[in-house]
Amino acid sequence: MSENILKISGLKVAYGGIKAVKGIALEVNRGELVTLIGANGAGKTTTLKAITGTLPACKVEGSVSYLGQPLLDKQLSAKSFKLVQSKLAMVPEGRGVFTRMTIHENLLMGAYTRKDQAGIDADIEKWYAVFPRLKERSSQLAGTLSGGEQQMLAMARALMCHPTLLLLDEPSMGLSPIMVEKIFEVIRDVSAQGITILLVEQNARLALQAATRAYVMESGAITMSGKAADMLHDPRVQAAYLGE
Ligand code: ATP
Repeated sequence: MSENILKISGLKVAYGGIKAVKGIALEVNRGELVTLIGANGAGKTTTLKAITGTLPACKVEGSVSYLGQPLLDKQLSAKSFKLVQSKLAMVPEGRGVFTRMTIHENLLMGAYTRKDQAGIDADIEKWYAVFPRLKERSSQLAGTLSGGEQQMLAMARALMCHPTLLLLDEPSMGLSPIMVEKIFEVIRDVSAQGITILLVEQNARLALQAATRAYVMESGAITMSGKAADMLHDPRVQAAYLGE
């Protein structure tokens, strides 16, 4: 039996009169790499923000549970410290690195809830090996990094807490093709190590190639779901999202 890590049901989010999410259901099971694809404004980021409790003042209905615990009511969310403690890590759109801290300090912040100093040091070295550019710039302020370098740092920082669930919001946005390839290589590696991932992406082809399952979101609703490999060959997905 597959273990449910994240379960969303009947989720509705409205910003004033704008119904951004209109009653969606979505599940992520342990070890899966699930992608949520869709056009600009479909409601993907709003869905992720509902999971992490980082929505601005707005009307929210439905339920979101993580490892069987409700997130929406208790707002375990809202406090990122508690989220990290519960091993739910998010790399937000726009990366969200601590711009006035060095790269090294950003990585240490990712390990804030850990006590195993030797393990923390080993993990930092591991990420420096994956992203040598971060090592070269370890004492540089994160705000001075390029967009691609900030994306690497944001992912490495999120992974420093050894997450049970990793939420990624548009990791390829604004990056060069080489950088996009590198970031997806890391996403596939992290997934192969058994970390459960929910990936929001506009680059549908790359996302579907990397994912096990996929959901398509259109105007606040889930309009399709299934195996990512099947979706790649679905004529509706091809026409709407793969430029075929
Ligand atoms: P993108 O890929 O462009 O980020 P998305 O699928 O992530 O799009 P959302 O950012 O979730 O979409 O936006 C869904 C809808 O909600 C859009 O119509 C957007 O304008 C609206 N919206 C998002 N945030 C707010 C907000 N803070 N106040 C009012 N409306 C908002």
